[in-house]
Amino acid sequence: MLIDNHGRPINYLRLAVTDRCNLRCFYCMPEEGIQYLPKPHLLSYEEMIRLCTILAEMGISKVRITGGEPFVRRDIIPFLWKLSEIEGINKINITTNGVLTAPLVPELKKIGISSVNLSLDSLDRQRFFEITRRDEFPKVWATLEALLEHDIPVKINTVVMAGKNDEDILSMVELARNQNVSLRFIEEMPFNGEGLRPEQMEFWSYRRIIDLIRSAHPELYKLQDEPNSTSYNYHIPNFKGTVGVIAAFSRTFCGTCNRIRVTPTGSFRTCLYDDGVFNVRDFMRQKLSDEEIKQRIYDALQNRAKDGFEAENRRSSVVSESMTTIGG
Ligand code: SAM
Repeated sequence: MLIDNHGRPINYLRLAVTDRCNLRCFYCMPEEGIQYLPKPHLLSYEEMIRLCTILAEMGISKVRITGGEPFVRRDIIPFLWKLSEIEGINKINITTNGVLTAPLVPELKKIGISSVNLSLDSLDRQRFFEITRRDEFPKVWATLEALLEHDIPVKINTVVMAGKNDEDILSMVELARNQNVSLRFIEEMPFNGEGLRPEQMEFWSYRRIIDLIRSAHPELYKLQDEPNSTSYNYHIPNFKGTVGVIAAFSRTFCGTCNRIRVTPTGSFRTCLYDDGVFNVRDFMRQKLSDEEIKQRIYDALQNRAKDGFEAENRRSSVVSESMTTIGG
């Protein structure tokens, strides 16, 4: 088992398979002028399978596929099948915006995808359009329906932004009344291509979000969270689903962080807030052996920041890159 220098077991990889996205969420990336990477800069599927095999041998048992939007990368389904065959990987989760996902849901079920995180910031079509700059709400809704129909556990991720969708919080909560979904309201972070937005000063912290939900549902009660959960989860009596908050900017959950990240270009991050500790694509293309790569990974985890604040302080650049280059 991989253990970092703070005694935290590491068993979870978040792998961003592309930097491309078919939405333009304003809090994630600029509307225009994004320089997508040429394909040779990205990890190939073969490289990703090799990396996941190496990591599985080191103790990684759970992989989340993210992006960009994972389903815009061609041939993602055969890749997911291969990933599911790696010994030791027993959970594959996917984070998607749901635009292209609905028709693929039956295949995802066959592959054995454990759960899907669906990003959805508003149930109002016009507001969805204003946030994402694309009029794709009906397709995303179809994905939610398909996931529920195929009994794939769904978590809905909603980034809360002052003046943009804070009015939607309580209507989103209503979704959990009759649907078996886990809603998770996320604090906005400055990963948007530009850095902290001035409007973020009127910040929706996880506490403020929960206080609002509790004011409408005083009977809300806290659930026991799973050991490495990034969300604080709650239940409202008689609701089928649950509601939660993710303190992504307040960074209250680092003490139990069990995850590493690899970006589409192979940058290896031991924390969301660091700026990459080495490049695993380069190692592979320099023909390092599996054992040599394992040693680099092991060494990086012996120098891991204690939390997201320390990682941010160690960076050479301020946090401003688009989340589409990291995967969330
Ligand atoms: N395209 C996929 C999707 O939308 O789920 C996967 C990649 S997306 C970058 C992953 C998650 O990061 C989404 O839930 C998105 O809302 C979230 N995200 C992006 N930028 C963010 C920011 N600045 N603050 C908080 N969450 C952010």
